[in-house]
Amino acid sequence: MNHGFRRELEAGLRAVRQAALLCREVQSGITTESLAKQDTSPVTVADYGSQAVICRLLAAEFPEDPVIGEEGAAELRAPEGAVFLQQVLDLCAKNGAPGTTADVCGWIDHGGASQYSPRFWTLDPIDGTKGFLRKEQYAISLALIVNGEIELGILGCPNMNFPGGEPGVLAWAVRGYGAWQQPLFSSEQSAVAVRTSGTSEPSDLVICESVESGHSAHDWSGLIAGDLSVRRTALRMDSQCKYLAVARGEADLYLRLPTKRGYQEKIWDHAGGVLLVLEAGGQVTDISGRLLNFRQGATLALNEGVVATNGRVHPVVLRAIERNRPAA
Ligand code: AMP
Ligand code: MG
Repeated sequence: MNHGFRRELEAGLRAVRQAALLCREVQSGITTESLAKQDTSPVTVADYGSQAVICRLLAAEFPEDPVIGEEGAAELRAPEGAVFLQQVLDLCAKNGAPGTTADVCGWIDHGGASQYSPRFWTLDPIDGTKGFLRKEQYAISLALIVNGEIELGILGCPNMNFPGGEPGVLAWAVRGYGAWQQPLFSSEQSAVAVRTSGTSEPSDLVICESVESGHSAHDWSGLIAGDLSVRRTALRMDSQCKYLAVARGEADLYLRLPTKRGYQEKIWDHAGGVLLVLEAGGQVTDISGRLLNFRQGATLALNEGVVATNGRVHPVVLRAIERNRPAA
């Protein structure tokens, strides 16, 4: 593959793999007792740890590139954060990134950019934290944006299955060079291409949406499904694994319908997944059909919601969204 982002792809895949091992280790330690206590500390520690290992690699390989990441180390640097900080340090050390407290906080804060620039990375170290805690789907999402275009998108999906059943999918796309998947936790098998579904009959559609009704309006998607005579129940899952589901044809569309006015989608919740769907043959816009604008800093300030489809059904879906738009 002869694109201009070979070094970036190689470093990004390595970073996401390392973070996925760290996250998997923490998730496997979550117990029913900690879940019952609604103890969210595992996700906090894994979130910081994941951002630390990824930004450590990016800072070493591409020191000039800003990273717009979800986390910052301010909480860890505060006296109340000392216990967490030690846990993050230990976790990083066990996962191939030993460092001092200053190193680890520095790596995390390397991901603290928020302004648009001509070339930057965006990172969600654990997307779908609710899914992570429930031991369900979550993703590590990393993308490189150059002049407002997503050039490289990578998703680590530890609990999605590779075709054949092996757990863990590393999915990635380079603009103009297709969308690919390979096993996340073993590097022997080479990547295979992913393609969106060929479904064009609305009643056959499989809709994919958030588990959380606070993140995407379930009542609105229910109206759309009824309008299009969709027969199959919606596939609900946390995180950008939804983009992977559309990219490889397990779902035909992903709806993210605003639940409240004024919420601005975060770029790290989308950039990695968006390129995957586009390169797999799909289409991605906001709910009004506008292309997503990644030139606004940390949020998609010029867009409202997100719709990702197999491409074919995009116009039909946009019209159904419009017909069923709740009265303001
Ligand atoms: P999901 O796993 O698809 O439900 O999305 C998880 C992401 O939803 C998190 O990373 C948050 O950044 C984001 N989020 C938080 N509040 C909202 C909201 N009101 N609308 C849409 N997304 C949100
Ligand atoms: Mg997220």
